[in-house]
Amino acid sequence: MDDINAPTRRQLFETIGKAGGLVALYQSMTALGHAAETQFHGPPVLSGAKKGATVVVLGAGLAGMLAAYELAKAGYKVQILEYQTRAGGRNYTLRGGDSHTEIDGTTQQVGFAPGNYLNPGPWRIPHHHRTLLHYCKALGVALEPFIQLNHNAYIHNTDALGGKPIRYKELATDFKGHISELLGKSLNQGALDDKVTAEDKERLIDALRNWGVLDKKLSYASSLKVSGQRGYDVPPGGGVTGAPTASQIDSLHDVLDSKVWNTMSFYFTYVMQTTMFQPVGGIDMIGKAFAREVGQMITYNARVSKIAQNDQGVEITYADNSTGIVGTVKADWCVCTIPLSVLGQLDVQVSDAKVAAIKAVPYSGMVKTGLEFKRRFWEEDESIYGGHSFTDQPISLISYPNFDFFKKSPAVLLGAFASGAAGYQFAGMTPEQRIEAALAQGEKIHPQYRQEFMNGTSVAWSRVPWTLGCCAQWSEDARKQHYQNLVSMDGRVVLAGEHASYYGCWMEGAMLSSIDAITRLHKRALEA
Ligand SMILES: Cc1cc2nc3c(=O)[nH]c(=O)nc-3n(C[C@H](O)[C@H](O)[C@H](O)COP(=O)(O)OP(=O)(O)OC[C@H]3O[C@@H](n4cnc5c(N)ncnc54)[C@H](O)[C@@H]3O)c2cc1C
Repeated sequence: MDDINAPTRRQLFETIGKAGGLVALYQSMTALGHAAETQFHGPPVLSGAKKGATVVVLGAGLAGMLAAYELAKAGYKVQILEYQTRAGGRNYTLRGGDSHTEIDGTTQQVGFAPGNYLNPGPWRIPHHHRTLLHYCKALGVALEPFIQLNHNAYIHNTDALGGKPIRYKELATDFKGHISELLGKSLNQGALDDKVTAEDKERLIDALRNWGVLDKKLSYASSLKVSGQRGYDVPPGGGVTGAPTASQIDSLHDVLDSKVWNTMSFYFTYVMQTTMFQPVGGIDMIGKAFAREVGQMITYNARVSKIAQNDQGVEITYADNSTGIVGTVKADWCVCTIPLSVLGQLDVQVSDAKVAAIKAVPYSGMVKTGLEFKRRFWEEDESIYGGHSFTDQPISLISYPNFDFFKKSPAVLLGAFASGAAGYQFAGMTPEQRIEAALAQGEKIHPQYRQEFMNGTSVAWSRVPWTLGCCAQWSEDARKQHYQNLVSMDGRVVLAGEHASYYGCWMEGAMLSSIDAITRLHKRALEA
């Protein structure tokens, strides 16, 4: 029975929030079925480091810089060793004037116009990645929407519908229409009577008629109502010639050929759901914001080759990348965020179980290609503003810029996001061949490509010297056997990074892992 004097849920949350702080509020919301979307319970509350205690952090990616930022606040003296001449790690952005070099020395100069960029690694932030969103807010990183689902972008399948790109809204509407018709008619014929009660059958038929836009006979057929979802042949206008005409639906056979359900289920995936965000100006705004806080702690160009430890502390050996001069750093504790693909090749003094764990995890290879065009023809000619068109070709998708809409100047789109076998195929090409492949495949979707193309650049992650791969690829077996050994504290060394999380290949995972690692390190350091 309702009690009108009982607090509303909102009032209850507010009271709990005031009484027990944010963590209690979060836990109460979780218990009531809200907000169970993240393991982030607020930034770590570390304080009271022992006087003079020191930590060396290896790698200035997000995991490393978060560790340094929070440990320094807790009172540790922190030093970071970073292989590159910049901070951010995989969180980086390529703009005109930048250059990047692969393991064989192949160097690409980026020729994009001012304001244009490619995020070769991370590019989108789900709304439930609360750790990352927290630090963006705390460090003043401005965010804008990352357009994920665009109903007007294309689905392209070489073997479907004559290889023509078809708008997502058309195929998605047709898919649910045909499915609804089949299910509705099966229900009506009693084919599912042993599965569905009479009452549910009636309600389900009602739902299918509505959801699938079926007619009175439960058929999915071309109509103005259906066009209200998939688009018209002649859209509604004004005055004398304002009457719209319906579009022709695609047959069930054609819709199945298009494999549109792949895209529909992609958008259902937890980490791919809207709303998504991106930093204004490039993803590296996050790395740069952290570097503003911890930049003075970083030694750049420092290639770590050895991690040694004993009861008293750690000793890290590194070489300066430009001079080759070898140096050492001593500290009480070490947080190592070097990707496992690199770490597995270094001399690391930890238990055999941890060494086995470090070597047990392969890395994925992925290639992103950015193409700059003279004008935004996808907007001007095709009304596509942000979002992705998907194709069954190796480039896998074309992703349109989510900012500067309607601007009359060159723009960069993501012309290839090749993963799996296609990722290795693209990585095996020269940069020029990658651009040519992206153009040849992309022009099947946008015939304007050749005429409008200006220049492009690509990053093949398996050929990037400081990560030798895109991200850690844990198998279930490897997790069972090695994960706890990887993340456990080993003497005075703890590992952190996306590889040390269940959120692999997300910045959120790198940060959650870092918070967990430094919280344990701090506890151990206070006990020591
Ligand atoms: C193609 C691609 C797409 C992605 N998309 C997304 C996305 O949309 N959203 C998202 O949230 N995440 C995404 N990610 C994942 C995200 O980039 C990572 O999870 C995160 O940036 C990893 O941070 P990290 O600190 O663990 O590692 P890193 O950023 O790799 O940092 C490790 C640091 O160690 C340094 N280092 C390496 N070797 C040495 C050495 N010997 N000595 C000293 N330093 C060394 C490196 O230079 C680097 O700076 C994507 C990644 C890729 C590659």
